[in-house]
Amino acid sequence: MTNANTESPEVSAPSNFLREQIAEDVRTRKFGDAVIQTRFPPEPNGYLHIGHAKAIFLDFGLADEFGGKTNLRFDDTNPEKEETEYVESIMKDVRWLGFEWEKLRYASDYFAQLYEWALQLIKAGKAYVDDLSAEEIRRYRGTLTEPGRDSPYRNRAVEENLDLFERMKAGEFPDGSRVLRAKIDMASPNLNLRDPVMYRILHATHHRTGDAWCIYPMYDFAHGQSDSIEKVTHSMCTLEFADHQPLYKWYIAQLGIFPSQQIEFDRLNLTYTLLSKRRLLQLVEEGHVRGWDDPRMPTLSGIRRRGFTPEAIRAFVASVGATRTNGIVDIEMLEHFQRDDLNRRAARAMAVLRPLKLVIDNYPEGQEELVEVANNPEDASAGTRGVPFSRELFIEQEDFRETPPPKYYRLSPGKEVRLRNAYFITATSVQRSADGSLEVHCTYDPKSRGGNSPDGRKVKSTMHWVSARHAITAEIRLYDKLFLKPDPGDVAEGGSFLDNLNPSSLEIVSDAKLEPSLGSAKPGDRFQFERVGYFCVDPDSSETRKIFNRTLALKDSWAKIEKKAES
Ligand code: ATP
Ligand code: MG
Repeated sequence: MTNANTESPEVSAPSNFLREQIAEDVRTRKFGDAVIQTRFPPEPNGYLHIGHAKAIFLDFGLADEFGGKTNLRFDDTNPEKEETEYVESIMKDVRWLGFEWEKLRYASDYFAQLYEWALQLIKAGKAYVDDLSAEEIRRYRGTLTEPGRDSPYRNRAVEENLDLFERMKAGEFPDGSRVLRAKIDMASPNLNLRDPVMYRILHATHHRTGDAWCIYPMYDFAHGQSDSIEKVTHSMCTLEFADHQPLYKWYIAQLGIFPSQQIEFDRLNLTYTLLSKRRLLQLVEEGHVRGWDDPRMPTLSGIRRRGFTPEAIRAFVASVGATRTNGIVDIEMLEHFQRDDLNRRAARAMAVLRPLKLVIDNYPEGQEELVEVANNPEDASAGTRGVPFSRELFIEQEDFRETPPPKYYRLSPGKEVRLRNAYFITATSVQRSADGSLEVHCTYDPKSRGGNSPDGRKVKSTMHWVSARHAITAEIRLYDKLFLKPDPGDVAEGGSFLDNLNPSSLEIVSDAKLEPSLGSAKPGDRFQFERVGYFCVDPDSSETRKIFNRTLALKDSWAKIEKKAES
């Protein structure tokens, strides 16, 4: 594990510093009689990803622990990038994770109030209309080592500022020609306090307010005040906003409104994964994946389609916790939580991905029987089912070798193995069937029914199988990591993160053979295909053709031995 967080005590203990901070504020009655109130504030400019799951878990989970409430608030102040499709997907994903908001709000609900507050700051001599271009404003701002310079428009009279701001709102000026700025300190060591922009002109249609506005507040002039309106006590956000906190406080103090407190925590980063809506959008738009919900995507809709469960994601983000320094979590940690959850809950089934025909020569032709199999050995209440067994079966190609390498304990000529829950078999020969494909012939020991040794003799391998006559044929989508590098953002000069895409992240197996009970599986149903991995039914399935996504492989012991031998 490469996660710096996992070494810190707040994660191994069931607590984190945010919880301690809130507990302290409750103890000192920092917010008086106010209940603990949080919000989850996504911008509806893309689908939520696993990083957001961490923020959701902290916002909703901590409020809940302290008897508080959480609002879902869309931070919709960038009309050009925001869409109703994203709003809807975000609501669906939050609910899927198992959380329900107290109030549904939009920053755009507050546009009128924010405008009033802007007028209030202008009247107090704390804000001014600036005619400098964006480029000029950047140049006047200075650098980390040099102070900024005052804009020549900084000392405009209040009356002139009010007039110009009202005319900005009325649509008299083109985009980019003027902005409203807070009048703070052009020499502040914090660049965010060097007269930050409060409003810009944008003649753009907003997904909710339509064309009612042509000036839009900046994130910083909207977020703290929106928190304050909703009486948010703890406004949790990621560390990159730490430098914005003084500005957040400045607006609240100047306006004399409810003193919401911003607290920053570390972003979730995962190996082999990019968590940035902008880049995920690029993957979708350029067709590198099949959509936002492609099972290779780290979006909540992608990993849901892949078969991940909300329970496992919650357990994972709980265990990751929250700290004040950014780290990177090994993707295997997430996979571990998911395997653990599916191992406990997923129904078992037998499926052969790459079929090889097996004929039991001494099993009577035309005979068939039902073998009783536990649906989940981890859960007795899951019951049993009958799986049809007959003379001709399919086994995995990799479970047979005509000339076995050393330490290969599966089937080979003369070797005896167990067919899971069925019988002991001994391979006798390899033949070509009429259509030219290979078929393995064997004999079985009728006294080993149920897969039990009749006389104490042992076999070293147990294999899964399906009856050829009863099997259904299905498509299986095998996913691998989307990126080849642990840090996909690590690119050569002039390169792009796209250079790190794994060209074989999707392999489609079109004629897997499955036990017949899987014919009635519904989209979203999850299974452990014994010895193969965890799979779930893809919504692309039809009544007649099932499609399964591999959620995760089981740890394959043989692949490991083989790899070791190679290296
Ligand atoms: P992105 O960079 O992917 O676009 P964002 O921070 O712009 O993400 P928002 O919609 O603004 O996305 O985020 C909503 C909330 O989720 C914010 O409070 C943000 O801090 C939090 N968040 C976003 N990404 C992560 C992450 N990787 N880990 C933890 N919290 C995150
Ligand atoms: Mg953002």
